[in-house]
Amino acid sequence: NQANTWDKVDQYVTERLIPHDAVLEKVLFANHQAGLPAIDVTPNQGKLLNLLVQMKGAHRILEIGTLGGYSTIWMARALPADGQLITLELESLHAQVAQANITLAQLDGLITIRVGDALAQLAQMKEEGVPPFDFIFIDADKPNNPNYLKWALHFSHPGTVIIGDNVIRDGEVINENSQDPRVQGVRQFYDLLAEESRISATAIQTVGSKGYDGFVLGIVSS
Ligand code: SAM
Repeated sequence: NQANTWDKVDQYVTERLIPHDAVLEKVLFANHQAGLPAIDVTPNQGKLLNLLVQMKGAHRILEIGTLGGYSTIWMARALPADGQLITLELESLHAQVAQANITLAQLDGLITIRVGDALAQLAQMKEEGVPPFDFIFIDADKPNNPNYLKWALHFSHPGTVIIGDNVIRDGEVINENSQDPRVQGVRQFYDLLAEESRISATAIQTVGSKGYDGFVLGIVSS
Protein backbone atom coordinates (compact mmCIF):
# COMPACT_ATOMS: atom_id res chain seq x y z
CA ASN A 1 0.00 0.00 0.00
CA GLN A 2 0.88 3.65 -0.25
CA ALA A 3 2.10 4.16 3.33
CA ASN A 4 4.36 1.14 2.92
CA THR A 5 5.91 2.73 -0.18
CA TRP A 6 6.45 6.04 1.64
CA ASP A 7 8.21 4.13 4.42
CA LYS A 8 10.42 2.22 1.99
CA VAL A 9 11.33 5.40 0.10
CA ASP A 10 12.24 7.10 3.38
CA GLN A 11 14.49 4.12 4.15
CA TYR A 12 16.04 4.31 0.66
CA VAL A 13 16.76 8.03 1.00
CA THR A 14 18.03 7.68 4.57
CA GLU A 15 20.38 4.81 3.67
CA ARG A 16 21.95 6.86 0.88
CA LEU A 17 22.02 10.41 2.19
CA ILE A 18 22.14 10.17 5.96
CA PRO A 19 25.24 8.47 7.31
CA HIS A 20 24.77 5.87 10.04
CA ASP A 21 24.93 7.80 13.31
CA ALA A 22 25.46 5.86 16.53
CA VAL A 23 24.60 8.84 18.75
CA LEU A 24 21.26 9.57 17.10
CA GLU A 25 20.37 5.87 17.14
CA LYS A 26 21.14 5.74 20.88
CA VAL A 27 19.00 8.86 21.37
CA LEU A 28 15.98 7.21 19.73
CA PHE A 29 16.60 4.04 21.73
CA ALA A 30 16.82 6.02 25.01
CA ASN A 31 13.55 7.80 24.14
CA HIS A 32 11.88 4.46 23.49
CA GLN A 33 13.25 2.94 26.72
CA ALA A 34 11.91 5.92 28.70
CA GLY A 35 8.46 5.48 27.16
CA LEU A 36 8.48 8.75 25.18
CA PRO A 37 6.10 8.81 22.20
CA ALA A 38 7.89 8.34 18.85
CA ILE A 39 6.74 11.70 17.53
CA ASP A 40 10.18 13.10 16.81
CA VAL A 41 11.01 14.28 13.30
CA THR A 42 12.29 11.54 10.94
CA PRO A 43 16.03 11.31 10.11
CA ASN A 44 15.55 13.00 6.73
CA GLN A 45 13.50 15.79 8.35
CA GLY A 46 16.16 16.15 11.06
CA LYS A 47 18.77 16.50 8.36
CA LEU A 48 16.60 19.08 6.59
CA LEU A 49 16.53 21.15 9.80
CA ASN A 50 20.31 20.76 10.06
CA LEU A 51 20.79 21.92 6.46
CA LEU A 52 18.42 24.87 6.89
CA VAL A 53 20.31 26.01 10.00
CA GLN A 54 23.55 25.82 7.98
CA MET A 55 22.04 27.66 5.00
CA LYS A 56 20.82 30.38 7.33
CA GLY A 57 24.18 30.53 9.10
CA ALA A 58 22.18 30.69 12.33
CA HIS A 59 23.92 31.37 15.63
CA ARG A 60 20.85 31.42 17.86
CA ILE A 61 18.04 28.85 17.67
CA LEU A 62 14.77 28.60 19.61
CA GLU A 63 12.89 25.31 19.66
CA ILE A 64 9.40 24.99 21.15
CA GLY A 65 8.81 21.29 21.98
CA THR A 66 11.93 19.26 22.88
CA LEU A 67 10.61 15.72 23.49
CA GLY A 68 13.85 13.67 23.81
CA GLY A 69 16.01 16.23 22.00
CA TYR A 70 16.25 14.41 18.66
CA SER A 71 15.47 17.45 16.49
CA THR A 72 17.38 19.60 19.01
CA ILE A 73 20.57 17.61 18.39
CA TRP A 74 20.15 17.73 14.60
CA MET A 75 19.85 21.53 14.71
CA ALA A 76 22.55 22.16 17.34
CA ARG A 77 25.06 20.17 15.30
CA ALA A 78 24.83 22.87 12.63
CA LEU A 79 25.66 25.67 15.07
CA PRO A 80 29.08 27.30 15.30
CA ALA A 81 31.05 26.84 18.54
CA ASP A 82 29.73 30.12 19.93
CA GLY A 83 26.11 29.33 19.00
CA GLN A 84 23.19 28.81 21.35
CA LEU A 85 20.00 26.78 21.22
CA ILE A 86 17.22 27.22 23.76
CA THR A 87 14.59 24.50 23.75
CA LEU A 88 11.30 24.56 25.69
CA GLU A 89 9.63 21.47 27.14
CA LEU A 90 6.63 21.04 29.43
CA GLU A 91 7.23 17.48 30.67
CA SER A 92 10.06 17.01 33.14
CA LEU A 93 10.57 13.38 32.10
CA HIS A 94 11.01 14.45 28.45
CA ALA A 95 13.45 17.16 29.55
CA GLN A 96 15.46 14.69 31.67
CA VAL A 97 15.76 12.23 28.81
CA ALA A 98 16.65 15.07 26.42
CA GLN A 99 19.34 16.34 28.79
CA ALA A 100 20.98 12.90 28.96
CA ASN A 101 20.79 12.65 25.15
CA ILE A 102 22.35 16.09 24.71
CA THR A 103 25.19 15.09 27.04
CA LEU A 104 25.66 11.90 25.02
CA ALA A 105 25.88 14.05 21.88
CA GLN A 106 28.43 16.31 23.64
CA LEU A 107 26.32 19.38 23.00
CA ASP A 108 25.78 20.61 26.58
CA GLY A 109 27.75 23.77 25.86
CA LEU A 110 25.35 24.83 23.10
CA ILE A 111 21.92 23.78 24.37
CA THR A 112 19.76 24.97 27.27
CA ILE A 113 16.50 23.18 28.07
CA ARG A 114 13.91 25.32 29.84
CA VAL A 115 11.34 23.14 31.58
CA GLY A 116 7.76 24.30 31.99
CA ASP A 117 4.85 25.51 29.92
CA ALA A 118 6.29 27.15 26.80
CA LEU A 119 4.02 30.20 26.99
CA ALA A 120 5.15 30.86 30.57
CA GLN A 121 8.78 30.28 29.60
CA LEU A 122 8.51 32.67 26.66
CA ALA A 123 7.03 35.38 28.89
CA GLN A 124 9.84 34.77 31.37
CA MET A 125 12.42 34.99 28.59
CA LYS A 126 10.98 38.36 27.58
CA GLU A 127 11.36 39.54 31.20
CA GLU A 128 14.96 38.35 31.14
CA GLY A 129 15.62 40.28 27.93
CA VAL A 130 16.68 37.17 25.99
CA PRO A 131 17.90 38.42 22.58
CA PRO A 132 16.21 37.45 19.28
CA PHE A 133 16.84 34.19 17.47
CA ASP A 134 17.94 33.53 13.88
CA PHE A 135 16.00 30.29 13.55
CA ILE A 136 12.82 29.17 15.36
CA PHE A 137 11.31 25.67 15.22
CA ILE A 138 7.72 25.38 16.51
CA ASP A 139 6.88 21.76 17.37
CA ALA A 140 4.89 21.56 20.63
CA ASP A 141 1.14 21.49 21.41
CA LYS A 142 -0.57 22.47 18.16
CA PRO A 143 -3.58 24.29 19.69
CA ASN A 144 -1.06 26.90 20.88
CA ASN A 145 0.53 27.36 17.45
CA PRO A 146 -1.02 30.83 16.96
CA ASN A 147 0.40 31.92 20.35
CA TYR A 148 3.79 30.45 19.50
CA LEU A 149 3.81 32.33 16.21
CA LYS A 150 3.19 35.62 18.05
CA TRP A 151 6.06 34.84 20.41
CA ALA A 152 8.26 33.76 17.51
CA LEU A 153 7.71 37.18 15.97
CA HIS A 154 8.57 38.82 19.28
CA PHE A 155 11.88 36.91 19.35
CA SER A 156 12.67 37.58 15.67
CA HIS A 157 14.72 40.05 13.69
CA PRO A 158 14.56 40.70 9.93
CA GLY A 159 15.81 37.47 8.38
CA THR A 160 14.73 35.10 11.15
CA VAL A 161 13.57 31.76 9.76
CA ILE A 162 10.45 30.23 11.33
CA ILE A 163 9.48 26.57 10.81
CA GLY A 164 6.22 25.05 12.06
CA ASP A 165 5.83 21.26 11.99
CA ASN A 166 2.72 19.08 11.48
CA VAL A 167 0.64 21.62 9.59
CA ILE A 168 -1.10 19.25 7.14
CA ARG A 169 -2.30 16.51 9.52
CA ASP A 170 -3.38 13.85 6.99
CA GLY A 171 -5.05 16.62 5.01
CA GLU A 172 -7.45 17.40 7.89
CA VAL A 173 -6.16 20.98 7.78
CA ILE A 174 -8.76 21.77 5.11
CA ASN A 175 -11.62 20.51 7.29
CA GLU A 176 -12.98 23.71 8.75
CA ASN A 177 -15.44 21.75 10.93
CA SER A 178 -12.75 19.53 12.45
CA GLN A 179 -13.37 18.83 16.15
CA ASP A 180 -9.64 18.28 16.66
CA PRO A 181 -8.19 21.27 18.55
CA ARG A 182 -4.80 20.56 16.93
CA VAL A 183 -6.32 21.00 13.47
CA GLN A 184 -8.07 24.19 14.58
CA GLY A 185 -4.79 25.45 16.11
CA VAL A 186 -3.00 24.83 12.84
CA ARG A 187 -5.81 26.54 10.86
CA GLN A 188 -5.51 29.64 13.06
CA PHE A 189 -1.74 29.48 12.56
CA TYR A 190 -2.30 29.74 8.77
CA ASP A 191 -4.79 32.60 9.26
CA LEU A 192 -2.27 34.52 11.33
CA LEU A 193 0.45 33.88 8.77
CA ALA A 194 -1.88 35.08 6.03
CA GLU A 195 -2.63 38.36 7.75
CA GLU A 196 0.84 38.98 9.22
CA SER A 197 2.72 41.28 6.87
CA ARG A 198 6.03 40.80 8.71
CA ILE A 199 6.39 37.20 7.58
CA SER A 200 6.53 35.59 4.15
CA ALA A 201 5.72 31.88 4.30
CA THR A 202 4.86 28.73 2.41
CA ALA A 203 3.80 25.22 3.42
CA ILE A 204 5.04 21.93 1.99
CA GLN A 205 3.11 18.67 2.17
CA THR A 206 5.24 15.65 3.04
CA VAL A 207 4.79 11.88 3.04
CA GLY A 208 7.12 9.40 4.69
CA SER A 209 7.67 6.91 7.48
CA LYS A 210 5.57 9.07 9.82
CA GLY A 211 2.64 9.40 7.44
CA TYR A 212 1.16 12.37 5.56
CA ASP A 213 1.89 15.76 7.06
CA GLY A 214 3.96 18.84 6.28
CA PHE A 215 5.66 21.95 7.52
CA VAL A 216 5.45 25.72 7.24
CA LEU A 217 8.61 27.59 6.35
CA GLY A 218 8.77 31.36 6.64
CA ILE A 219 11.11 34.29 6.87
CA VAL A 220 10.58 37.47 8.85
CA SER A 221 10.99 40.52 6.68
CA SER A 222 10.73 43.42 9.10
N1 SAM B 1 10.81 18.46 18.34
C1 SAM B 1 10.79 17.10 18.85
C2 SAM B 1 11.56 16.21 17.88
O1 SAM B 1 11.29 16.29 16.67
O2 SAM B 1 12.41 15.44 18.34
C3 SAM B 1 9.38 16.58 18.99
C4 SAM B 1 8.51 17.41 19.88
S1 SAM B 1 6.98 16.61 20.26
C5 SAM B 1 6.16 16.61 18.72
C6 SAM B 1 6.12 17.87 21.16
C7 SAM B 1 6.69 18.14 22.55
O3 SAM B 1 6.07 19.35 23.04
C8 SAM B 1 6.40 17.05 23.58
O4 SAM B 1 7.58 16.64 24.22
C9 SAM B 1 5.46 17.74 24.57
O5 SAM B 1 5.64 17.31 25.92
C10 SAM B 1 5.85 19.20 24.42
N2 SAM B 1 4.79 20.13 24.85
C11 SAM B 1 3.44 19.96 24.78
N3 SAM B 1 2.81 21.01 25.30
C12 SAM B 1 3.76 21.88 25.69
C13 SAM B 1 3.73 23.15 26.31
N4 SAM B 1 2.59 23.75 26.63
N5 SAM B 1 4.91 23.75 26.59
C14 SAM B 1 6.09 23.16 26.26
N6 SAM B 1 6.18 21.95 25.68
C15 SAM B 1 5.03 21.33 25.40
